[in-house]
Amino acid sequence: MKKRRLIFGMIGGLLIIFIIVTASNVMLVNSRQPSPQPTEVVINEVKAVEHLSKAIMYKTISYQERSKFDFTEFDNFISFLEEIYPSVHTQLELEKINEYALIYKWKGSDSSKNPIGLTSHYDVVPVLAGTEENWEQPPFSGTVENDKIWGRGTLDDKVGVIGILEAVEFLINDGFEPARDVYLMFGFDEEIGGDEGALKIVNTLKDKGVTFDFVLDEGGAIVENMVPGVDQPVGVVGISEKGSATAELSIEGSGGHSSQPKNHTNIGRIASAIAKLEDTQFKGDLTGPGEDLFEYVAPEMSFPMRYVFANKVIFEPIIEQILLQQPATAAGIHEVLKRHQAP
Ligand SMILES: [Zn+2]
Repeated sequence: MKKRRLIFGMIGGLLIIFIIVTASNVMLVNSRQPSPQPTEVVINEVKAVEHLSKAIMYKTISYQERSKFDFTEFDNFISFLEEIYPSVHTQLELEKINEYALIYKWKGSDSSKNPIGLTSHYDVVPVLAGTEENWEQPPFSGTVENDKIWGRGTLDDKVGVIGILEAVEFLINDGFEPARDVYLMFGFDEEIGGDEGALKIVNTLKDKGVTFDFVLDEGGAIVENMVPGVDQPVGVVGISEKGSATAELSIEGSGGHSSQPKNHTNIGRIASAIAKLEDTQFKGDLTGPGEDLFEYVAPEMSFPMRYVFANKVIFEPIIEQILLQQPATAAGIHEVLKRHQAP
């Protein structure tokens, strides 16, 4: 009897120690958010919105088959940029690579410093034929309604092109001169890999011996309801890019007559192969950039999540399970590198 009481006492004691230690870990978590520097935005908002809305209307579509590109739309888009950003086009040097990839060079006061680069792309993905009716607003309408701009490219990535040019046009007119050279680089075939755009831009600048201090590209966004346990919007900064892989599955087998179907037709066999492939998911591993993200976001989380993250050493398997449930967070922790050793 005494022995049992002793065991219960020990378990109770350990539990109390566990609670005290883990709870005090939560206390030690301090916000890592920098205090924002308020800036007065003086850009003409109405004009900026109108510019993006109009930019959406150009059907600068990247098709997998390059022969399908309608380059008159690309020509018209470039002319449109020249028209709405006159200062950019008189003050900056514009070099067109492969006719449609654009490099703007903005000379700074000290060209001996390494330049910085801002990049974006103005091509968009096609709209699947027959799905036009499913759109709340037509994909190339650029409709502005209830503080929203609709259409292909609003997020990916005409907003980048227009945003950058809008800012530079404003700064030039405001008499600003950058301290170092600034390159603005816009691709036209990013959605199909960028071989004729971004890659050619890189090669051109490499040949000229241009080395950047840093380059900012698209990626990341201000997201809501994506990070579990955080109610506020989160600014997700993309600091690396994942690769991609395409698998082509083929099968060999005999055919047959539809009056005498086999139990497993070739279609069924290949379908189960696809299902198996889909079931073989990458494991979760909270390390690297994914871990860094949560180091910064965890202090802003609701208590249960903050508790779990403050005691990551203990709860890591649970955290990974939570993050694996959503594609966006799962992508941040998928353990890709070691996966190829798996069966
Ligand atoms: Zn993009």
